[in-house]
Amino acid sequence: MIKTKTVNVDIEVTESLACDNCGANIPLVFEDPGGTTQQGHDALAIIFTGGYGMYVDPLVQHDLQVLWCKKCADLLCAAFPSIHERLGTKVELK
Ligand SMILES: [Zn+2]
Repeated sequence: MIKTKTVNVDIEVTESLACDNCGANIPLVFEDPGGTTQQGHDALAIIFTGGYGMYVDPLVQHDLQVLWCKKCADLLCAAFPSIHERLGTKVELK
């Protein structure tokens, strides 16, 4: 979930991001007065995609992107070690 505010008639600026799983506020990595950068500190963006006959079937639904906070990403990695392994050793579970 992305929270924005209108600073004039034509431009919306990203103020903060929220975890799509728990709703926690995710601070932005960069201040971005232009509103084009939406990178959350320690956030995990997950893109669900698929193909015909797959769990996500593009004939039925579009690709889906969700953004999770560090706490929820850690829970995902703890529950599914193969995902943690694929993300690499730089990611430390808290
Ligand atoms: Zn969360």
